[in-house]
Amino acid sequence: MAEQDDTPETQMARLILALRSQGVTEAKVLGAIESTPRPIFTQDLFKERAFEDSALPIACGQTISQPFIVGLMTQALKIDKRDRILEIGTGSGYQTTILSKLARLVYTVERYRTLMQEAEGRFKALGLTNVITRFGDGGEGWPEQAPFDRIMVTAAAPGEPKALLSQLKPTGVLVAPIGKGPVQTLRRYTGDGKGGYEIEDLIDVRFVPLLDGVAKEL
Ligand code: SAH
Repeated sequence: MAEQDDTPETQMARLILALRSQGVTEAKVLGAIESTPRPIFTQDLFKERAFEDSALPIACGQTISQPFIVGLMTQALKIDKRDRILEIGTGSGYQTTILSKLARLVYTVERYRTLMQEAEGRFKALGLTNVITRFGDGGEGWPEQAPFDRIMVTAAAPGEPKALLSQLKPTGVLVAPIGKGPVQTLRRYTGDGKGGYEIEDLIDVRFVPLLDGVAKEL
């Protein structure tokens, strides 16, 4: 657990060690996490807990993901620096920022206008120039920008995300939590180049659901 007297650097170092011991071992993924100040992405009430390896509440009843899960999903995506990535569920923009450090372009979709605007403010403050945002229903993907090298879904899809898979390159990789209940399976689809996929179940996860349409409330 984080000691609140510790400096942010010490707390971050402890977090990185915890992720590594849980299997997030790729240096470039750990480097992207280490260079992303998580307190920027959390609500004031939770800033002191920003370096904990836990999910935390954000606006609109949503959550910023647990750093271990962010690391694991990022690693599972097998990103190449030339990749164009589609992310569904911008939320705080934390995962987006980490992806943006590893890829050429990140397209990210969020169904809450408030979350989208807050995340855009953070991307600007961080000087990110390779993130493209869209307020909309990510379940439909981003057909105008398809196909993508990689797709990451950070909200739980009830079943196979067919629309998104159709926007993936033939040898692309898609990582998504799949399931209808409170616990879902983190699944990786790897295109075989012939229209089929290798499917791997990685770990049990708890994500907020992927909902249809844009949010009516702000
Ligand atoms: N990656 C985020 C975690 C976000 S939680 C982070 O690092 O902070 C999941 C997000 O998915 C929520 O913000 C939720 O509003 C969004 N979401 C759920 N269904 C969606 C949909 N159909 N289209 C776009 N975003 C969606």
